[in-house]
This record gives sequence, structure tokens and C-alpha cells, in this order.
Amino acid sequence: MNSLERTQKLKQKASELGFELSGATPAVPPPSYPSFLDWLQKGYAGEMAYLERRKEARGNPQALLPGAKSVFCVGLSYNPSPEHSPLLEKHPISCYAWGRDYHQVLGEKLEALSDYLCRKLSPGARAKWYVDTGPVLERGYAAQAGLGWRGKNTLLLNRRFGSFFFLGEILTDAELSADAPVDDLCKTCTACLDACPTGALEEPGLLNAVKCISYLTLEHRSPLPEGAALHGYLAGCDLCQTACPYNANAPAGREKAFEPSPEILGLTRETAAQMSESDFKEFSRNSALERIKYPMWLRNAGLGRE
Ligand code: SF4
Ligand code: SF4
Repeated sequence: MNSLERTQKLKQKASELGFELSGATPAVPPPSYPSFLDWLQKGYAGEMAYLERRKEARGNPQALLPGAKSVFCVGLSYNPSPEHSPLLEKHPISCYAWGRDYHQVLGEKLEALSDYLCRKLSPGARAKWYVDTGPVLERGYAAQAGLGWRGKNTLLLNRRFGSFFFLGEILTDAELSADAPVDDLCKTCTACLDACPTGALEEPGLLNAVKCISYLTLEHRSPLPEGAALHGYLAGCDLCQTACPYNANAPAGREKAFEPSPEILGLTRETAAQMSESDFKEFSRNSALERIKYPMWLRNAGLGRE
């Protein structure tokens, strides 16, 4: 089987597993790596020290999988259904965390996809998959693999599916046929920059995480900086995505695991603030919110949406 046939079959399997988007790119440092280093240097990563610790690996896929030749990128939509999208305007939790933990959901699919690649399509090939947590510049690779372009809000944006999708990658020593990047279609739009209430998007495509509600609620473990406002959010922030015209007509995600749980549907700032530590553990079990420490949850609830 040649690399083109292998890539086509892998894309077909990715689609059968539910991924809306997929594409391949060579396992070389993505062009966004120098900007990533510059961004770190500016201190825009705040307390995310893990980014600094493994910054070399992010520019060197060979350090993760010696002999790696290709990165296969996938996207899985979590765009809320018409039934639930009105919640985007008022819910204190960003919609990425309304359902089951995406690390688990994508992890199961990527495991199956890697298995298919290394057993059926390229017997003996090696593969390692990542969802968000590995030292991989996933948006940079996904852009190179043609899944979309980097929007002015820094997120990966697809003309049809918008930006409410999770990314995953398979790094492999199998040869895959590379896809081409797509054009940047942000053009003259500035809706995301205009919608950001904290000025975290300092320039088009430049996020100062230290000012970003997503970072402050999910990653910043110290007390919040003087004057920080969470604009109603307890975890994450969707404002620069809900403002984006490419999300307005994007189809709803098909993955049932990302639909809001009854607990999420019933959550208010008041009920959040009243949770004991064991209540919070139960509430966040198998959810991406499990990564938030309880003291952070209470801290966020103290400044949550009125
Ligand atoms: S997630 Fe919220 S705070 Fe962060 S850049 Fe987007 S709109 Fe601004
Ligand atoms: S809101 Fe406009 S500028 Fe921002 S990412 Fe979407 S299309 Fe691009």
C-alpha cells in the first residue's frame, strides 16, 4: 500500500470513528514553533510552567518518537446542539466541559485509530497519540495538516465546523501523504478581539494568557490577580468563540458524550459555591473539570456570574 492509499484509509477510519476532521503533515517542527518560543519568552504563559519545561520537545517530534515521519491530526466537534446552544449565553461553564472528559473520549478513538494504522495499514509501524496534554504544538500541526487556519483568537478555525472542536494527533513512523494548509479566512473580521472582555487578545493571533478567563479559571492556581474579573465564568470562557461568524452556522457535534450532563444543566453559581469537596469530586468525575482543584473552584465561584 502506498502512502496516499494508507492516508485515505486512515481518514476513512477516522471518519467512521466520528472525527469530523482529519489530515496529515510531516513530523517536523511546525512553522509556529518560533512564535511559541517568543510567546513563552514574553511571559504570556503565566503559571503554565509545564510549557517551559518541555519546550524543546514541542519543537522536536523526533524526541517523542525517534524515526517519526508523520503527524496525523484529527478534530472532533463539541459544538452544542440547537437545544443546548442558548446555554452558551449564560452558563458559567465553557461548553468544552459540559459532557464527558474529552481526553477520555478522544483517547479511546485515537487508540483504535492507532491500532488500525499499526496493525492493518502499516504492520509493525509505531505510533503515539496525544490529546491536549502531550508536548505537541497541536494547533500548529493541525493547521499544517489542513484542518483549518489559526484564527485571530489563536484557535484553529475550520470554514465548515467553526472552532468548537477538540484536536488530537497520532505521531507515527509510518509514511503518510501530506495535506496542504488552507487559506486564512479571518480577513477583516475582528469580532473575537472586540468580544474579549479582558483584552487578553493583545493583537490578532496573540493571546496573553495571564489576562484570559480560561487560563485564570483553569490553569492559574494562585489567588487571582488584583482586579481580575471572570465575567460570570467558573471554568473556561467561550466569548471569543461565540462571537466568531464561523461558529454561527457550524453543524452541531454528533458525539453524544459531549452533551451536557443533568448536573451541568442544573448548575448555578450558588450551587457551585455550596459544593463540599466531596460534592465537587462527584460533580467533576469523568469531566474535564476534574483538573480543577477544589480551592480554585471555590475561588472562581466567589467571582462568578451574578
Ligand atoms: S477565552 Fe475569553 S478571556 Fe480568553 S481570549 Fe477568549 S474571550 Fe478573551
Ligand atoms: S471572530 Fe473573526 S477574526 Fe476572530 S477568529 Fe473568527 S473569523 Fe477570525
